[in-house]
Amino acid sequence: MKTIDELLAEGVAGKRVFVRADLNVPLDGTTITDDGRIRAVRPTVSALAAAGARVVVASHLGRPKGAPDPAFSLAPAAARLGELLGSEVAFATDTVGESARATVAALTDGQVAVIENLRFNAGETSKDDAERGAFADQLAELADLYVGDGFGAVHRKHASVFDLPARLPHVAGGLIATEVGVLKKLTEDVARPYAVVLGGAKVSDKLGVIDHLLEKADRILIGGGMAYTFLKAQGHEVGISLLQEDQVPAVQGYLKRAEELGVEFVLPVDVLVAHEFPDLKTKAPAHPTTVAADAIPADQEGLDIGPATRELYAAKLADAATVFWNGPMGVFEHPDYAEGTKAVAQALVDSPAFSVVGGGDSAAAVRILGFDENAFGHISTGGGASLEYLEGKTLPGLAALED
Ligand code: ADP
Ligand code: MG
Repeated sequence: MKTIDELLAEGVAGKRVFVRADLNVPLDGTTITDDGRIRAVRPTVSALAAAGARVVVASHLGRPKGAPDPAFSLAPAAARLGELLGSEVAFATDTVGESARATVAALTDGQVAVIENLRFNAGETSKDDAERGAFADQLAELADLYVGDGFGAVHRKHASVFDLPARLPHVAGGLIATEVGVLKKLTEDVARPYAVVLGGAKVSDKLGVIDHLLEKADRILIGGGMAYTFLKAQGHEVGISLLQEDQVPAVQGYLKRAEELGVEFVLPVDVLVAHEFPDLKTKAPAHPTTVAADAIPADQEGLDIGPATRELYAAKLADAATVFWNGPMGVFEHPDYAEGTKAVAQALVDSPAFSVVGGGDSAAAVRILGFDENAFGHISTGGGASLEYLEGKTLPGLAALED
């Protein structure tokens, strides 16, 4: 993979450089609730601008349905990027239309523009190669060079990620280079013990990574909504907790294989339960109770790991040399269910292990709960992308930058 440093050494002054970034930040209306992804790509953008490039930054945000939708506008992200760069950032109100063409044509050396959400165009995510290719052709007209730096999207075979680099001289940006370097450390010559903490909402999202990491990890700790499918697989009733009944056989298979391989699976021993899912808007007190993991009442749901589990997990992480964590331990968005996620974050801060946090919600949780990002080995900007990398899959956006 050619790097941005090589490109900068060759010189980019006066060149139009398309930066495929990942500005897919969580929004509350038009307010950005976590700007981590924008901060992560800022060094790439500012290095190009400082070298005199005319920088065209592009990204997706959310899942609009292939047509403009103001709820998914990149305007707030563009404004934030401008604040971080300390300079005016131009904004095009479309992707490849009149506004984009005029905005790019008006750029002077060292200036930055953001074009509107790539997913406002159906060609971006199309499964049809020709439709994607046609959109990539239009995007290619906006630039002379391509820098791939949207790590959070490299697992997508999308026009701006996969087809566009085939049409322009391309390099990997600094963020992608960092992310790939970190993920290599989690797959090759891993320092042991290697502990993996998995949580979040859906087991089915994470089965592939469990499958692959069973061969690599020494210990796998399970929390979050997916823990209930594991508890069910062990024969416990889980009340009205999040449950993916259809995944129970697969989970039973993993538990069995882990035993054969000598991998330690650690499941919650206690959980916080309540009769209903908390109100995340008002954050009204939820008054949960703590119960043993094998005694969840039939009419209640588990929403966080309990205090004994927090201690158990902290102990299981204290002597690890490498930790990968994906997925919150509970519904951390509500303060009554944030303690489990906090405890795991604190355990990583306290442990000398090389710790990597992956996953959009997990990374946001760490920052929203007030932890210092620098206390972790690395906070990945990619959820699905880092998981698919760890599953050993070929990522289209990385493959496209290789040749
Ligand atoms: P990531 O983005 O880090 O990969 P996920 O998207 O898989 O994480 O899951 C994050 C979501 O999981 C959060 O919104 C959180 O509220 C939810 N969650 C965690 N624990 C539970 C639970 N016990 N029941 C329901 N949802 C949960
Ligand atoms: Mg998520």
